[in-house]
Amino acid sequence: MKTMTDSERWLERRDGVAPVWARYTDLVVERGEGSWIETIEGQRYLDYTSGIGVINTGHAHPRVAAAIAEQAGKVIHAQQNILFHKPGLELHERLPRYFPGAVGDAVGGERMGLFLSNSGAEAIEASVKLAKIATRRPLVVAFRGGFHGRTHGAMALTSSNVKYRGHFEPLPGGVHFVPFPDPLRLGGGSADAALATTMAAIDELFATLAPPDDIAAFLVEPILGEGGYIVPSDAFLPALRAVADRFAIQLIVDEVQTGFGRTGTFFATDATGTVPDIVVMAKGIASGLPLSGILARRSLLAKFSPGTHGGTYGGNAVACAAAVATLDVIEDEQLVANAARQGERLLAGLEQVAGDHPSVVEVRGRGLMVAIEFADRRTLQPRPDLAKAVMAGAFERRLLLISCGTYGQVVRFIPPLVTTDDEVDLALDTVREVVATLAE
Ligand code: PLP
Repeated sequence: MKTMTDSERWLERRDGVAPVWARYTDLVVERGEGSWIETIEGQRYLDYTSGIGVINTGHAHPRVAAAIAEQAGKVIHAQQNILFHKPGLELHERLPRYFPGAVGDAVGGERMGLFLSNSGAEAIEASVKLAKIATRRPLVVAFRGGFHGRTHGAMALTSSNVKYRGHFEPLPGGVHFVPFPDPLRLGGGSADAALATTMAAIDELFATLAPPDDIAAFLVEPILGEGGYIVPSDAFLPALRAVADRFAIQLIVDEVQTGFGRTGTFFATDATGTVPDIVVMAKGIASGLPLSGILARRSLLAKFSPGTHGGTYGGNAVACAAAVATLDVIEDEQLVANAARQGERLLAGLEQVAGDHPSVVEVRGRGLMVAIEFADRRTLQPRPDLAKAVMAGAFERRLLLISCGTYGQVVRFIPPLVTTDDEVDLALDTVREVVATLAE
């Protein structure tokens, strides 16, 4: 009789796990370190998923783990309505300094503040509620292909895949969508043409469906995440800013996936020189503890009068300690610069090892947010079968990758920002081997 492995024994308990979780692997993880995870049998995998862009400081960074342990030994939950705690106060002082364009913690003399919650979707809800209460306007303009989370409000703003909305209607109303300036599919390969089409669609929206003085906010990802790792023209956010300024619309940037050094600048918005009104954060903020938040001018945050928004766990003490340690690690280990450097190597390397495959339409990305899109080069018909084959081949070779894009046709690479030259080279060798086995 075949003896069961430890993993198989543990997996016998999986039947109660809600099948709603899309499963990429059946690995049972025991520990992680840096860019690596290790199963309970001791098999090591290079984790280029980072838990979907969360573990920017690497798995179980010792400084983050120590900060969590130390805080947990003192106080775990000190509710925001009732108490202050040291890691929370430190985080509220430090994070506003990262607001795009800030000098110290101020932009144009206006000081920034922070509201903390638990998940990306929850922070999205906060951002839209704030824009609405501040402007007393009812509508939001979001972008096709965007993903902002799975609560009812966040779903209503999401259009990266019909599965996030289908059979859940009615969703909250008051959302209008315009096309994201996707250079490949909207601009025929030209970022400028795509941007022109998007800006024309906004004009048309204003003329046909929604007058600008009804619009509270633009909600936008600086680089599309779940929608396919699509990098728009650098002129996109400045162009949106100009329209927002003209009509007193709030500009909300969703930096949930792009933030905390991921794209080679602290926030992806930084690379465009744009000053938004609200920055939405989660994922990389606390190296894996559930924490999220929004940054905005203090005068704007003050539009939320006490009790109009909140939550039991927002600003949890242990999560804040993890976030403070995360900022320390990002700074001390110069992870933003490493993301830029390794990202360039990864992008150039993937172009070399995969770019010539006849069904690769684009290798793209910024910093350590990099992707290969598979589609027919002539018709742009998506090829999710090839993306799946790449993920499966990589998995056999112990490299973890996940997909994105509406049709699952994009393989994304989201390494921890601590990833090294050797790890990037190993990932590239693996992809080279896998692509060599791919059908056309
Ligand atoms: N916004 C973006 C850009 C995201 O990528 C995600 C999650 O993938 C969210 C919002 C939602 O975050 P959460 O899953 O923490 O609710």
